[in-house]
Amino acid sequence: IEVVGAPVINDVKELKGAVLVFHDITELKRVEQMRKDFVANVSHELKTPITSIRGFSETLLDGAMEDEELCKQFLQIILKESTRLQALVQDLLELSKLEKEEMKLMLKTIHIDEWITSIQTLMEQQAKAKSISFQSTIDGGITFIADPDRMQQVVLNLLYNAINYTGEGGTVTLRIEAKESDIHISITDTGIGIPEDSIQRIFERFYRVDRARSRNTGGTGLGLAIVKHIVEAHKGKILVESMVNKGSTFTVILPKEW
Ligand code: ADP
Repeated sequence: IEVVGAPVINDVKELKGAVLVFHDITELKRVEQMRKDFVANVSHELKTPITSIRGFSETLLDGAMEDEELCKQFLQIILKESTRLQALVQDLLELSKLEKEEMKLMLKTIHIDEWITSIQTLMEQQAKAKSISFQSTIDGGITFIADPDRMQQVVLNLLYNAINYTGEGGTVTLRIEAKESDIHISITDTGIGIPEDSIQRIFERFYRVDRARSRNTGGTGLGLAIVKHIVEAHKGKILVESMVNKGSTFTVILPKEW
């Protein structure tokens, strides 16, 4: 709490009392701290791949290039790290646009059957590559109002996470149901799950339950923050249910009409 005080003096310059103003600056401090943490996080996230790209390039130039096998291995790391860097910058720009509310939604009536086909095709391939079974149950004939590209981004992000955090032989299910006034889009996996004390935090920028694992799968730690922004811009909400070692369900609830 910040206190500002001033004396109260009457016409004949007698001291009559004092005025004290109490400002609750907890919220200001919290916002300032979040901003500082964000800058520190971004710097750290950028530094790690850059250090690795530099180190491996230097080692190659110092002679490792002569060993063809080693050369290939190092170049693969450099490629992987630069791809991560690119994804990170892309996500940061996206998030900054969303936060400045520069994102204009291109609202259209989405006819579920045609909209979902490309998502299904893409995910069947992705799941197959990891020996995961991908299933979908879609109520046919549903229509709702949303920005088709943004909403596709939401569903793809959640599906990619479901695949990333599920081991071989697992199952990922996409379900789309029409309720009275909402559409429920849910993505269920039989993966590693999320510990209860982390569930509240996974939508924060850069929060990860397991940093190393997320890095390995190429995650930026920004995906869910972006998802939440887009869903809220659509006047929707997102719910999570999860159990460690059993799996997770993310449900996006969108109004049918605006
Ligand atoms: P990331 O790029 O790390 O995947 P996200 O913002 O998409 O970042 O997710 C934040 C964190 O939430 C992840 O690092 C992971 O710990 C957890 N998470 C997200 N989706 C799932 C899921 N389907 N199963 C288990 N954990 C998940």
